[in-house]
This record gives sequence, C-alpha cells and structure tokens, in this order.
Amino acid sequence: MVEVLRRRGGSASRPAGAPVHRAASALILRTGPTGTRLYSARNFRPGERVLELAEVTWRSQRDGETVEHPFGGHLYHPILAKAAHSCEPNCRVDFTRRALFSTMAIATGEAVTTDYRSTDRRMSRPFDCHCGSRRCRGRIS
Ligand SMILES: [Zn+2]
Repeated sequence: MVEVLRRRGGSASRPAGAPVHRAASALILRTGPTGTRLYSARNFRPGERVLELAEVTWRSQRDGETVEHPFGGHLYHPILAKAAHSCEPNCRVDFTRRALFSTMAIATGEAVTTDYRSTDRRMSRPFDCHCGSRRCRGRIS
C-alpha cells in the first residue's frame, strides 16, 4: 500500500507491509498528477496525533521534502514530506512533541496538509498555491 513505509521497514524481522509508525495505518499515500500525496485513512478529531516523527533524518540544507526546525536544521521524514501545503492546513508540526497534530477535524480520504511557511522561513522552490482557502496567500516563497 505505502511504498515509503515499506522502504523504511527494511528489517527482515518485520512482516512485509506492517506499519512502521503507530499512526501509519491511519494514513495512506496516493500518487496522482501532482505527485505522491498524504491522505487520511480515518476520521481525526481536532488535536489528535496524526503522525509520530520519532525517526527523522537531518539535512544541512532545505529542499522540497524538509521541514525547518526552529533551532536550525532541516528535518526529513518520508511520510511528512508527502503532506501537501495549504494556507489553511488541517495539521501542524509540533516539534516539542515530535509529532504531526490535527488542527481541525479531518475526514477519511481528505488530504493531510500543513502550512509550509509555518515552519520554513522560505521555500527552496517557491510555488503558486491553489489550496482554495479564502485565506490563500497565493505565491508561497
Ligand atoms: Zn493557499
């Protein structure tokens, strides 16, 4: 189902396809015209832990897959990296609790989104946002 999860779960002792993360069974990756994106596989209430960020790697420079830590450095998590941007996101990264939390109710099948500019001071590749929110800021740079 989730290729990124399988790749992370390379251990021979772990059954094939078993979730690596506790929250992974609640999330799915789907590949469409705009690339592979993260979706919810169940309903979330506001304030729920959507994804643990326990196992992360660090990159010295920002890129299209990283999240900037407030104390410096660019965090890479293979599932978080697939969350789309929204100017009115349904999730936020909590660095203190090292997890992704829902900021509003998320329905099954809905895209899991974060506001990239809530963590990163600038984008490695600026883009025009089409999130559809009334609060959409347009160009995200
Ligand atoms: Zn937007």
